Amino acid sequence: MTKPNSLLTQPNSPGLNQASARRTPLSDTQYAAGLRIFQNCTAYRDFIVPQLSRSETVLACLPGHLIRRIKRYVAYEPNDVFAEILEGSMGTEEVLPCLNLAAQVHRTSFDLETSTGDEKFDLILFCHSMSDMKPSHASITRALSMLTQHGIVVVFHRDGTLDFGSLVCTQTASFPTGLVCMADIDAVLDDFAAFIAGGSSEDAARAIWRELCRSFGVRRHDQLSFSAPEVMYAFNCHATSLSELTDLVLVVKEDRAIKNREARLQRPAAIARPTDTRQVQQCVQWVLRNEFSLTVIGGGHGGHCLKGNVFAVDMSAFDKVHLTAVEKTEEGREGIGKNLGALVVAEAGSTTGDIIRKTMAAGLTVPLGSRPTVGAGLWLQGGIGHLSRLHGLSCDAIIGTILVSVASGQILCVGHVPEQHIPRGAVRPANEADLLWAVKGAGTNFGIVMSVTFKAYPAPVYSTRNWVVPLADEAEALLQIRKFDTLVARDLDQKCSADACLYCKDHRLHLGVAVIEAYNSNFTRVLLTPAFEADIWGSGSDIKTVDGFGLFETEIYVYGMHGGHAGGKSSAFKRCIFLKNIGDKKIASRLVAAIKAQPSQFCYLHMIQGGGAVGDIAEEATAFGCRDWEYACVITGVWPREEGDDSELARSVKQWVYNVAEDLLPLSCGAYDPSNVLAHACPFPAASKLKLIILVTGEICAGKDHRAYKEQHRLALTAYFEEQVRQRPLLPDEHFLDMVHNAVGVDVLLITGIRDNAPVASFSHLVPECRLIEVNVCASENTRCMRRGSGEDNHDNDVDLTQMNYRPDLIFNNDETGDDAAQMFAESYLLPFLHSDLNLLAEMVREVPNFPRSGIDFRHVLGIAHQAGGLALCTDLLESRFPGDWAKIGAIACCGIGGIAFASALALRVDVPLPTSYISAMLSSSSEEALIEVERDVIPKGRPAVVIDDVLSSGSTLCALLDLLITAGVAAENIDVMVIAEFPVHRGRELLRNRGFGTIRVQSLLVVEGV
Ligand SMILES: Cc1cc2nc3c(=O)[nH]c(=O)nc-3n(C[C@H](O)[C@H](O)[C@H](O)COP(=O)(O)OP(=O)(O)OC[C@H]3O[C@@H](n4cnc5c(N)ncnc54)[C@H](O)[C@@H]3O)c2cc1C
Repeated sequence: MTKPNSLLTQPNSPGLNQASARRTPLSDTQYAAGLRIFQNCTAYRDFIVPQLSRSETVLACLPGHLIRRIKRYVAYEPNDVFAEILEGSMGTEEVLPCLNLAAQVHRTSFDLETSTGDEKFDLILFCHSMSDMKPSHASITRALSMLTQHGIVVVFHRDGTLDFGSLVCTQTASFPTGLVCMADIDAVLDDFAAFIAGGSSEDAARAIWRELCRSFGVRRHDQLSFSAPEVMYAFNCHATSLSELTDLVLVVKEDRAIKNREARLQRPAAIARPTDTRQVQQCVQWVLRNEFSLTVIGGGHGGHCLKGNVFAVDMSAFDKVHLTAVEKTEEGREGIGKNLGALVVAEAGSTTGDIIRKTMAAGLTVPLGSRPTVGAGLWLQGGIGHLSRLHGLSCDAIIGTILVSVASGQILCVGHVPEQHIPRGAVRPANEADLLWAVKGAGTNFGIVMSVTFKAYPAPVYSTRNWVVPLADEAEALLQIRKFDTLVARDLDQKCSADACLYCKDHRLHLGVAVIEAYNSNFTRVLLTPAFEADIWGSGSDIKTVDGFGLFETEIYVYGMHGGHAGGKSSAFKRCIFLKNIGDKKIASRLVAAIKAQPSQFCYLHMIQGGGAVGDIAEEATAFGCRDWEYACVITGVWPREEGDDSELARSVKQWVYNVAEDLLPLSCGAYDPSNVLAHACPFPAASKLKLIILVTGEICAGKDHRAYKEQHRLALTAYFEEQVRQRPLLPDEHFLDMVHNAVGVDVLLITGIRDNAPVASFSHLVPECRLIEVNVCASENTRCMRRGSGEDNHDNDVDLTQMNYRPDLIFNNDETGDDAAQMFAESYLLPFLHSDLNLLAEMVREVPNFPRSGIDFRHVLGIAHQAGGLALCTDLLESRFPGDWAKIGAIACCGIGGIAFASALALRVDVPLPTSYISAMLSSSSEEALIEVERDVIPKGRPAVVIDDVLSSGSTLCALLDLLITAGVAAENIDVMVIAEFPVHRGRELLRNRGFGTIRVQSLLVVEGV
């Protein structure tokens, strides 16, 4: 799919303006109709645009513990349609149950004059359009003055259309690939165009608008889609504090020439230009004090050195490169060889060209990249060049660094840094070895790097030899790519690197090949050997011999093709994918197909050879863990600069780059994404989602690790904790969530020492995405006395299970010594929670977006029964997971259509009667109450019953059914409940417990996130 055009970021397009010349302001209903098009647009659901996807219910979507923190709600909504919705929903206790004062909805815009008052708020959201609030930074500044000490103002908006002046952001997020999609129907397009233009128009103009929409939008089936990038800015109450810094450091608004055009489009809050380490430290300390974000500008070639309203630090003043004399042998420091040889200290504002020029003068070099203007971002994030096969990546040559930590503001000295280049006040951090590891590949993530120390190598001279091979058709292209891979590159000496470039010229595919050999007096030259005179593509262009600086200038095929990239006046957008075996037909044909699909004749695929020293380093030795590749394939989208960066051509070229990357990714060994180096360059396992939390409760000394000192202070600690909870009732929730949030990359979390009563009922709504179970550990009194070591029977602190008014999910008898019993227990009762059958079942729960109303994603649990094998799987699971004996069960009870579907299949399977219960009548159409009835005497006296239901959400239906069973003579201890899916967010277990059913065992096959 090509990327749709951004009609949304071009509201001033001449066509639209011309057509809008006689537009009348939108009525509230017309405005609402336009906005609903965005609301129904699924592409926004993944992003933080709640105002667009769930305008009425944004707060209702918060987890319960946050909702209960909302004591005051005030809204400014000039549109009557939405104001009415807000008044209806926010006024109700169901949405905001803990308001101290009634919700207030002002039917007007938030404006500087009317919205006065001294009231303070924790959260101020600017949603929808800010078009009524001009200038926008003044409205934000006004809102900032209404914040509590730790409050934040959050703005959600279309990207590229707001100017917040010098307000400094604490956080930003962007959604550049946002799409708005709609049916290609006149009426829908009329609503949409009027919304974008900000007014409705006469019939004739409407027809022009429709045409404009159709020409701008990308059609897919009967849908039109438009690019709609979105951003979020969060400001805290310090957002206006830039003046605190301006006395200390030179601060400017615009930067020197940032080379990357995407970055150049961003409007940072301010750019500091420090000139010494102390000033950099002051910048970081100011950022930390005010909880801001920051970016760093190195060579300015990356797309992330500037961000909208984020504070930036420009390192251009630190542009020196220092050479140190040959060092003596150094022992002992992590990661450095014995003989360090010559070292190069490159300050962070220096460029590739600065380093090469300085080192070459001393007969030395550092393995860097192919362009002289590229800066520190290259060596901090990897760095691939013509010496990589011989000496490794640029980051592999780093042996030390000085950085200002963005965690502490301290100046850190890491690894080997020559004494004279260690600034005053620098400290060696405790995690020094880890930091050195991290800087080698992910160096932009931990602080502002002031300088790095490189190992230097003897400077070589380079021979280059080029071939340009015109390709008649696809078959020939595949053949030549295979020749390049297998005959030229595969067995190439490590001193050489072979690059290939696939491109089109005069509508014909071409393969350009360059072999570059690095040599000095120590090496025998490879390019002059008979193998390279052999008949692959003939002798090629003349062999040129250049030095390290000359290599930048060498007109090898990449710079010469297409007439030198549109005469050198071009813009480019690149992404890099690591590949092996490009001669393999599967990969080669995708490369050829990519070039055939290029939207501009200037695009190309550049395969830079890896292997050699790159792969000699172990994957886990540096943060650049992706080592096992043969080619870095740089997918390069190019368009003539005169077309403009926001032109249709530029957008489709970028989309082409993304498409090709997506297509090659499954065949690749990894990808290099500078915005997410850790995620892509390191083969870390993907963060796993927490699946199961086991809360271990139990009587004192029921565990095997009884410690006397714990007992000695238990009473005092318990009293202290209870007092804390009295002062901060949500403390247990906070402790629990802290533990969960710290469990990164964990599948199963075990939390021991839980003393809370009925912890599953209390905490499960806090983690609605995973299953929470309680295992109560018990032991006989004798065992506990023995473990206590006193022989005395001191019961003071014991929890008496019989006194508990709830039932733990599982009870483990811990009388035996050794691990066998625990292992058997885990295998029999805990591992089944992770069984793949449950995943299979979960996949059968279909999601129905926007049902029964907008903003609700309905989970169709009953739909399991409609799917092939669904009912049988459910029945198997219900049958096998029931902990009791089916033969003893007197009845299976259920209620409603959902319960009956599953209960009847189970009843047949286990041969237990299914007495008919039914919802007899709705009491009134406005009430949600219903009457549940069951035939008299259908449940045999004294026999247990199992309740089967499809869903446990709020628990009210289940409570009614349990009431009915108990009235019908079934004792509570004889009832088990099994449900197919539980939605913990509705706190059903808590309701059951509050209604006196806490001792009834409730099991759910699935735990489902969502409402
Ligand atoms: C024309 C061109 C040629 C290229 N050739 C090669 C090549 O041959 N080999 C190769 O591997 N790559 C190459 N690249 C990719 C290049 O390495 C990356 O784009 C790199 O991030 C650019 O670094 P920079 O310092 O110039 O850019 P910047 O945008 O200034 O920095 C890039 C990133 O590094 C961060 N950063 C910069 N300085 C510091 C610092 N002191 N402390 C902490 N973070 C910092 C920035 O915040 C930003 O996130 C090339 C790119 C271009 C545009």
